[in-house]
Order: sequence, then C-alpha cells, then structure tokens
Amino acid sequence: MLARYACDPEHTRGRRIGEPPSPPRTEYQRDRDRIVHSTAFRRLVYKTQVFVNHEGDLFRTRLTHSLEVAQLGRSIARTLQLNEDLVEAIALAHDLGHTPFGHAGQDALHDCMKEYGGFEHNLQSLRVVDRLEQRYPAFDGLNLCLETREGLLKRCPARVAAALEAAEPDGVARRFLAGQQASLEAQLIDLVDEIAYSAHDIDDGVRSGLLAFEPLQAVPLFMQHCQAARTQYPQLAEQPRRLLAETLRRMLSAQVEDAIAATQAQIEHHRPHSADAVRRLPPLVCFSEPMREQSAHLKRFLFAGLYRHPQVTSTTERACDIVRALFAAYVALPTQMPDEQASGFDRRGHRVVADYIAGMTDRFASREYARLTGRQAFALPSAV
Ligand code: MG
Repeated sequence: MLARYACDPEHTRGRRIGEPPSPPRTEYQRDRDRIVHSTAFRRLVYKTQVFVNHEGDLFRTRLTHSLEVAQLGRSIARTLQLNEDLVEAIALAHDLGHTPFGHAGQDALHDCMKEYGGFEHNLQSLRVVDRLEQRYPAFDGLNLCLETREGLLKRCPARVAAALEAAEPDGVARRFLAGQQASLEAQLIDLVDEIAYSAHDIDDGVRSGLLAFEPLQAVPLFMQHCQAARTQYPQLAEQPRRLLAETLRRMLSAQVEDAIAATQAQIEHHRPHSADAVRRLPPLVCFSEPMREQSAHLKRFLFAGLYRHPQVTSTTERACDIVRALFAAYVALPTQMPDEQASGFDRRGHRVVADYIAGMTDRFASREYARLTGRQAFALPSAV
C-alpha cells in the first residue's frame, strides 16, 4: 500500500545501464540486495562512528548505525505509506563513502585532496555505488536506480553539481541546480540518521565513561524521558544501564512519533499528488518546531560533551596523522598500494589514493600505517 507521493519502483527513473527486470523482486529490493552483497557494505563493520574500532566491542560501528537507521526509517515509512524498500536501500548505503576513523578521517583526507578536487563522504558514497564496486561483468559499480543514488547525495555544492550534471544530464545532481528536493524516502533517511546517531552516541558516550548521567539531565529531551521512566519504574534508580536504555527507547519513540505527525501535517498541507510533485515542494519530512529545538539542544550537548571530549579528540587527532601519513606514503611510492591502484595512480592520479584510503577499515588503516612507518598506530586498546 503506497501513497501516491511515494516512489514507485514501476516508475523508477531507471538505471544508468538498462537491465532486464528480476522478478519477483522490485527494482528497489534489487538495489537493497546489491548493497548488502557489496564489499563496501561489509567493511562498515570495522569503520568508526565516534569511537575507533579498537576501543571496545560494544560501541556502534557504521554497520550497526546503518542497521538502526534502516529500522527507524522503515517503521516511519510504513506509517507514512512510503516505499520501505527504497528507504532501506538508502539507509544501508548512506554511509558507504565514509573513510576510516569517522569524520576526522574525512577531514584529513579532504585536506590531502584539496588541490585535487577535495574529498566529501556523500559524494564518495555515490562513487562507491557508481564506480568503485567491481562485481558485475557489464559495468562498474552497482548500477543502482536513480532514486537510490539521489538519496546518497544529501548535499552537493553548485560547482560539483554542475560537473555531475555535465557527466549525467538530468541525473542525480539535477535537483541541486533546479532548487528541488529529493524524494520523501531520501528526506526521511536524512532525518532518521540524526535521530539514530544522537540516541546511540549518548548510549556509547555513557558506556565509555566519557558522558556522565548528571550533565545529561540538563538536556530537556533526555531529562523528560528519564524522569518519566523513573516515575513509572522507581527501581531503575538502582539500575543505571536499564534506566539509560529505557530513557533512550522513550526518546526514540517520541522523536519517531513527532516526525510522523509533523510530516503528515506537511503532507496534508501541501497535498503532493505524486512523487514528482514532492520534488517541487519545500522539504516535507520534519520534526515539529518544539522537537526540532530539543533535538538541536541535544546535538549541541553531544558536540561539546562527547565529540569534543579530550579523549575523543586525542584519538581523532591521531587518526588524522595516520590518514595523512598513509596518503603521503602512497603518493611517494604508489607501488606500496596493490597493483590495481599502483597502475591506476599513473593514469588517474591522487583520486586513486583517496579512493583506496577511503575504502579502508579502521584496523586495516592502522596495520598499513604500522607497516609503512614502523610505528604503532594507537596505544594498546583500553579495556572497555
Ligand atoms: Mg549516518
């Protein structure tokens, strides 16, 4: 049961290279399957979200984050009668372009690539599914539907959009030049990504000992659900783990319910009659104003209290050094890369090095660093 404003696989804008259908799957199910079987997807398990992979076994990785995004996305999509398969495909692929070591890795790689076109993870996710995966005899990449690909390109500067449009007229970057929106399915993943990471980063932050319960009480979104949980279950005062889990569960539900209601109100107001009409409207997937403020407050708290925590930044600074050292080493001696990249470097230059490093897991990058420099990437893992 799809709403008229949902993306319909029968009316997909198609794949770059035409392929016969694959019954009984729809085109978006097929995209989801290709993503799950890709190499880049398997690597997500050893890529950092906030904590570097060796810091503990219980922290989120990009794989578990992507699964949480898919779960939240699907449950909202079902209520709004959006296309669940497309939502799932975008969710599972949305972080494929991330470097090892999270945002620090991306910033360092962007720095290294400044003179060669820069590096940005959304664009890289698109490169992964369009070119870098090599699994099919007839084409590079996964040859996904345009609706899935556009969901990966959340942001795109005009200069880059113009270049993409020149290479693929009326393609994935068109909307940035035309001032249009992506599908509701893509808009949904954008919002759900934030819902997922702000909840699980609290969980991981507390588990790691870097975030304390006390200052979290100053965050309204957390505080109200924590108090409600305590009132209903006074015994949770003695069980901090369960109290945290229950608080986060309530927080997630409240944000999901709010997003559903606020988005339904927008849909009701604008009454898009098709998936195409959605593109010409303002963004429709949203929080209510009060929830948007609460969510912004929480993000500011996490930024100051967790992402900028000295223990996190000392690891991320180290991660930046590792990425820069790898980049310099491969550029100086391309034969340190596998044959395919080494010969690619002669023809296509520094982008080959960026693609190679971006594809690494945290632990592979650490091992390469040790091999190339003779130095240990990180101090011995702390026991968490
Ligand atoms: Mg994400």
